[in-house]
Amino acid sequence: MPTVADAHANVSPEEIARFGQLAARWWDPDGESRPLHDLNPVRAAYVAARLDLRGARVADVGCGGGLLSEVLARAGANVTGIDLGQKVIDIARLHLHESNLSVDYRVQSSAELAAAEPAGFDAVCCMELIEHVPDPAALVNDLAALLKPGGLLFMSTLNRTPAAFGAAILGAEYVMRLLPRGTHHYAQFLKPSELGRLLRRAGLALEDVAGLGYNPLNRKAWLSRFTAVNYLLSARKPAAGISA
Ligand code: SAH
Repeated sequence: MPTVADAHANVSPEEIARFGQLAARWWDPDGESRPLHDLNPVRAAYVAARLDLRGARVADVGCGGGLLSEVLARAGANVTGIDLGQKVIDIARLHLHESNLSVDYRVQSSAELAAAEPAGFDAVCCMELIEHVPDPAALVNDLAALLKPGGLLFMSTLNRTPAAFGAAILGAEYVMRLLPRGTHHYAQFLKPSELGRLLRRAGLALEDVAGLGYNPLNRKAWLSRFTAVNYLLSARKPAAGISA
């Protein structure tokens, strides 16, 4: 079974292979996904503060092993989780047996889901993915196409600043060895202003940008005004009849 869609898909096979190697330990809070485990409650609370999750149809794009998908499902959302890594999707599905939750996990690209279910979702989450794709603008266009009019997009990613280089690459990959070396590529990080431009071009209105603070020593995460390293944002697709 192919783990990566056709050559035209917006994907780097090396990225998929890299995350595939982490799949088996994805749900180990002390494994390589440790930062994602630590950030997850804050991300989930950010989403829940802006959207009534009960009964909401939510797409989690680049869902990995399903950390966020499960929290959203537990809060009552009807979640579709997609990723181009077969291994991480296998782990995500397996974990549902442990959590007794239901999530529709698929090995599918954002473009394929957008073609199959245009304007099909009340909300779309895309956490820690955009810094790993070759064409961020195309990804944002897919995310916008997935949203119903009035729907909300939530994203998190790394800023392109010396502070982010220090924390995410030097700190996490080299000094603390929290993440495998090569997990992140500085040139692919996006500044909030750059991502904001991509969102506007896709017809979305930026509603909020928040800093996502993280102390890997005590494993605490929090929202702040400091967006220089990791940040979260929400953007809305205008309701039908209103142009962006
Ligand atoms: N969103 C999850 C996982 C982040 S890790 C979370 O924050 O908890 C990044 C994930 O993106 C990995 O699972 C990887 O397989 C996936 N990925 C990388 N490139 C992708 C692409 N082009 N399309 C879809 N998923 C991709």
